[in-house]
Amino acid sequence: MSDLSEEMRMPTPCPDCGSHRVRLSQIHNPEDKVFCSSCNSLRGTYSDLKKELIEEPKSQKEALIEEVANRKP
Ligand SMILES: [Zn+2]
Repeated sequence: MSDLSEEMRMPTPCPDCGSHRVRLSQIHNPEDKVFCSSCNSLRGTYSDLKKELIEEPKSQKEALIEEVANRKP
């Protein structure tokens, strides 16, 4: 039996152990469950993870713009 899982780094840490590493199936079905590679907590489905990977850089940029705007008198 071959191991069809791989590891990825998530932008958000595991709520249980704080690890950013997750383990998921290489098949990448949207319904596949993604687990924390450190404590095996369920982090969500692959579609959740993909959404988070796409949205995170955008929200960080928005936060930065907001910070700059707040600095103006
Ligand atoms: Zn964990």
